[in-house]
Amino acid sequence: MNDQNRFVVSALKFRPQTFAEVTGQDHITHTLRNAVRRDRLANAYLFSGPRGVGKTSTARILAKAINCESPADGEPCNECQSCRSITGGRALDVIELDAASNRGIDEARDLRENVRFPPTMCRFKVYIIDEAHQLTKDAFNALLKTLEEPPPHAKFILATTEADKMLDTILSRCQQYRFRPLSLEQTVANLRKCLRSEEGSRIPEAIREKVLYLIARTSEGGMRDAQSLFDQVASLADESLTLEEVELLLGGVRFDTLSEIAESIRTRNVLRALDLIHEAHHRGQDMAHLVKDLLWHFRNLMVARSAPDHPDLLGLPQEESRQLAEQGARFALEDLLQGIDILFEAERRLRSTGSPRAVCEAVVIKLAKMPTTVEIEALLGGGGIPNRPVAPLPEESRARVGPPAPMKIAPLPETVGPPNDLENASARLSSTPPDPAVPKVAIRMDEEPEKDLIDTLGEQWATFCHHVSDRDIRYGGYLGDAAPIAYSDGVLELALPNDLEYHISQLGSRKAREVLKAVLWEHFGVRAEVSIRGVARAELPRVQLAVVETPPPASAPVFSADEVTEAEPAVKTLLEQFDGVILEIRNNPNR
Ligand SMILES: [Zn+2]
Repeated sequence: MNDQNRFVVSALKFRPQTFAEVTGQDHITHTLRNAVRRDRLANAYLFSGPRGVGKTSTARILAKAINCESPADGEPCNECQSCRSITGGRALDVIELDAASNRGIDEARDLRENVRFPPTMCRFKVYIIDEAHQLTKDAFNALLKTLEEPPPHAKFILATTEADKMLDTILSRCQQYRFRPLSLEQTVANLRKCLRSEEGSRIPEAIREKVLYLIARTSEGGMRDAQSLFDQVASLADESLTLEEVELLLGGVRFDTLSEIAESIRTRNVLRALDLIHEAHHRGQDMAHLVKDLLWHFRNLMVARSAPDHPDLLGLPQEESRQLAEQGARFALEDLLQGIDILFEAERRLRSTGSPRAVCEAVVIKLAKMPTTVEIEALLGGGGIPNRPVAPLPEESRARVGPPAPMKIAPLPETVGPPNDLENASARLSSTPPDPAVPKVAIRMDEEPEKDLIDTLGEQWATFCHHVSDRDIRYGGYLGDAAPIAYSDGVLELALPNDLEYHISQLGSRKAREVLKAVLWEHFGVRAEVSIRGVARAELPRVQLAVVETPPPASAPVFSADEVTEAEPAVKTLLEQFDGVILEIRNNPNR
């Protein structure tokens, strides 16, 4: 027998046969087991989630469990005739349809006829319909009719990667379960099982752990992908296999390279960034993969920057987590968010271009040249911003100032919402609480008292995006390309360049519009519906995407708070850097 025949792919060899063996979906398997144990089964189930995370495996286990002759605690015994015939794919009563294939379409159409016949051997006839969102209209209708009056002997398990493409009429008849992508740790833990196989054991011990992490990172939470990548690596493995060879095989870009590219972006060293890309290209690295990995690296930096004490959120080896935390701390959070947005857009563009290298080079240049955001914290520490250096503030100059007398200088116009909000927005730019020696200052971009919503939003677009990102980072990212264009009859219209079809459709979704609506109300005090439309790029109004781009005030301030700015150089610096005005001065309640 040759190797080809003997080799059983890991995805089959290590396919889970009980609920307990399914990785990373405890929230689902637990409920299903209970349902089996109590014999409280739904007629139809919908399993949704990314590909390769265990939807079909769980469907088969459920089919076994409800038909098992001697189930134990909701689990199938895997010994009885019924269990074995289902595992072996021989059970006539468990019918698997792939809605994406022609045969599947025919079978689905005949569903109504066939479903009436009782099971031949098992207790239940189980229909497992994979990629259910791809069913044709006819098949959908047949399924719907069947689900309306399901015969008591039939159960349906629909699996889909795109639940939002399913008809509401079908969704409403199914018990729904959302499968999650596996975490890096879960994928690695699962892959360790594969190491026990003969092929797996050939991977040199010294690099095994790193290989597993590399595979897990490349597979992005899909167990089936991870296992098939593992098989590819294992098929090449002998004692001379190196990590570099594995990296090349997987197309993934090594951490050090990503880290260095990010660093050259931060220091705006375009030449170095291009050099690194050239080297990676020369090594044979896939350029599209590099953009994806760089996006992932920026995501990790953002997480490390926002939650430095939670390396578990990164799910990376300790050393890499530590390096990310260090590098993340050197970035402004706003810049990372902006960078992620730019990378998202580049990733989208990659799908429609034959020049991944050009996209890759363009994106690092764009990243290195994006307008940077200065953080209040850095400013006070004398960090300064490019082209506008700030003199460092000596510690004693801050310390010698007493608390200023409370005085009200100018009220906030109503259209910008609750007064606290602007303070929060500016304070949130800094991840640590403001220095207690510095009085709280509300900074506005200018002092024109009467603003309509479009102007207010246009000027505070970065803040708006930021609040939206807090709720859903994707929507916040897509908004980076949008601008408010009209507001009437309680409807705010946002425009995006019409070539960004994906962004338009995402932001146009009901969920996104609800998020935008909530942010408008909570942070800008405006109750409005939101609508999204595409316009030619040239028609798109300009909005403030970064605080430093703010133009100088058009007219002189209503009131000059000389006492405060004289006594408090830090405040003066802030006002200068942000072209801000003092609206209100209060005692800090924290001291
Ligand atoms: Zn059994």
